[in-house]
Amino acid sequence: MKYWWLEKYQNLEMKMLPSLFLDVQYFLVVPKNYVEVYQKLKDVDIELLTEAELCILLYWISVTKTVKNNLLGKIIERLLLVPDTSLPISDYSLLEVIEEIRSLKNRRAMIGQMGCNNIAACDSCLNVFYVDQIKATNSKGQCLCPFCLKNRLYFDNEYIPMNYSFLFHSRLFYSTSNLGCNYQKLKKLLKKNVKILDDDSTINLKEFILDLEFSQYLKGLQMKKITALDESKIIKGFYDYFLKIEECGSYEATLILPWKNDCNLFQISYLLILSCAFVLENFFYLKEIHLVIENRELRTQLKKVLKTCIEK
Ligand SMILES: [Zn+2]
Repeated sequence: MKYWWLEKYQNLEMKMLPSLFLDVQYFLVVPKNYVEVYQKLKDVDIELLTEAELCILLYWISVTKTVKNNLLGKIIERLLLVPDTSLPISDYSLLEVIEEIRSLKNRRAMIGQMGCNNIAACDSCLNVFYVDQIKATNSKGQCLCPFCLKNRLYFDNEYIPMNYSFLFHSRLFYSTSNLGCNYQKLKKLLKKNVKILDDDSTINLKEFILDLEFSQYLKGLQMKKITALDESKIIKGFYDYFLKIEECGSYEATLILPWKNDCNLFQISYLLILSCAFVLENFFYLKEIHLVIENRELRTQLKKVLKTCIEK
């Protein structure tokens, strides 16, 4: 299911609302004029709303904290029915990925190409969808995303990866964060403020443990192939860990990543660096990240990924 992160809110209780609202703000990117759109939607029967409209409604509720008439429950129920639209992970190397991301600005989806494409991906809101959902274009003839209304779409016929980590990396590349951080600044932050260590002797281990459920999940990934849906779960899992530290107002975070075997080393390294990048450019207090990695192979891979992201 596409909105896997809503599953835990199926039987919604009041005490879960703050965490739901945080998740909504993390996952959903809506058009700038979402309040205006909401005004038009608010009296329409929920069964008639499109997926994008349901997202706007949910986002509006998370911002205004207006919870009434079990509306939230109904929206969640409907979004949970949306099938997973993520596409398989590409076999591109990180260098190739970065090269493709750079070329995206010249390959944005034009209205004239719509007929010969099936799928579009948006690197602003990270949605992947059938082209028939596209309803708007700008004055340059570029297609606008039905979810966020940005001109940040590209089509499947361009043979560019459309998996989650690619879209996530591309968003970092083309966006400026809430704190005004662009990709050039982000590279400097990564270089200066992410340290990869092998020695955890100076650290009080108890303070830095990953959430149990996420740890178990990561453990399972050490034996199986990571899927495109896993990519979003992994980035979010690391993000949640750092968010807890940010909420304590801490300047530094240490993450100890237990990874026993040599499976999926590139993938996990890449997703961890993407998560660190997102955290560093968006968090207010947290400015320095220490990654403690006992597994030597993983440490080497992680250093390689970080170096490539910083230099290319
Ligand atoms: Zn979008």
